[in-house]
Amino acid sequence: AKVWVLKKHFEGFPKTSDFEMKQVALANLKDGELLLESVFLSVDPYMRPYSKRDMKEGDVMIGTQVARVVESKNPAFAVGAFVVADGGWRTHFISDGKDLNPLPPSWPESLPRSLALGTLGMPGLTAYFGLFDVCKMKPGETVLVNAAAGAVGSVVGQLAKIGGCKVVGCAGSDSKVAYLKKIGFDEAFNYRTVTSLDEALRKASPHGYDCFFDNVGGEFASIAINHMKKYGRIAVCGAISQYNDTVPQKGPYIQIPMIFKELSMKGFIVTSWNNGREEGVKALLKWVLEGKLKYHEQVTEGFENMPAAFIGMLKGENLGKAIVKV
Ligand code: NDP
Repeated sequence: AKVWVLKKHFEGFPKTSDFEMKQVALANLKDGELLLESVFLSVDPYMRPYSKRDMKEGDVMIGTQVARVVESKNPAFAVGAFVVADGGWRTHFISDGKDLNPLPPSWPESLPRSLALGTLGMPGLTAYFGLFDVCKMKPGETVLVNAAAGAVGSVVGQLAKIGGCKVVGCAGSDSKVAYLKKIGFDEAFNYRTVTSLDEALRKASPHGYDCFFDNVGGEFASIAINHMKKYGRIAVCGAISQYNDTVPQKGPYIQIPMIFKELSMKGFIVTSWNNGREEGVKALLKWVLEGKLKYHEQVTEGFENMPAAFIGMLKGENLGKAIVKV
């Protein structure tokens, strides 16, 4: 099997030389085990902060894939079945069958299985529970989401529309902004080219925002908090603008708007909703099949291009979910 290891801890923005591809031998299967072959691998922002906190140099990069069972000594998994596995950046690996999420054998033929890593997987569920449970979005409200053309953000905006809200999104290129308009965002702007973020947020919703789904943190969040309506709710989902910092950013000092607008702000991690996974995927799948929830995937071909796909995603080169096809 081929694996990618973290050769050198990232300093600032990750570089391809921080990774190393290795060949590893696999043992023979024991009873209860199965051999999995990766078909699609996910590259996600969390890998950047996770590597710093929880990995040492030489460890295999963590990550999730859609994998096919190629050999099985486990009666619960037939050869040819597909599962979502936390196997790391590996082409092949042996599993004991625990912690695998089987894809239903009735997976709709019209949909790529890679959606189990995006709109119908962890990012889609993050949008679903973050918006409905954390933001407690209600019909008629105004929702703001940043990194809006990405895996999580694009689902957030469309779910808010399905839920009867006005949606404002921002992203880092004009083509992404055009995409947001195409999939139903009421207002969208390019945060890299606006002369004033403050002005752009005011113009997009002069009366402010009831819900803010924050994927970015940092300066954007510090400015956006001042545009919340009274009793507004902020779901702190991610802080991608801070993941590559070598020196921590200063501020924001949010106490004054938090107090006077009586805001609620809650950080969350999607795995806390693991028990609701089935319900969430069912709801998302229904909307996808009805054509109400559109998806786009940025597919990079070739396992050898894992680091490039990961770095490209951090730079914003992806529209929708960044996926690697082996
Ligand atoms: P995306 O598909 O949105 O890809 C990342 C995007 O972030 C890029 O395409 C880029 O888009 C944007 N970005 C990168 N750097 C910056 C920056 N400095 N300022 C603003 N935008 C930036 O990734 P995901 O949808 O998978 O994840 C989005 C966020 O959600 C991340 O912060 C992630 O950590 C978080 N997350 C949290 C989870 C949880 O359980 N709490 C679960 C899953 C994700 P652009 O061109 O617009 O800049």
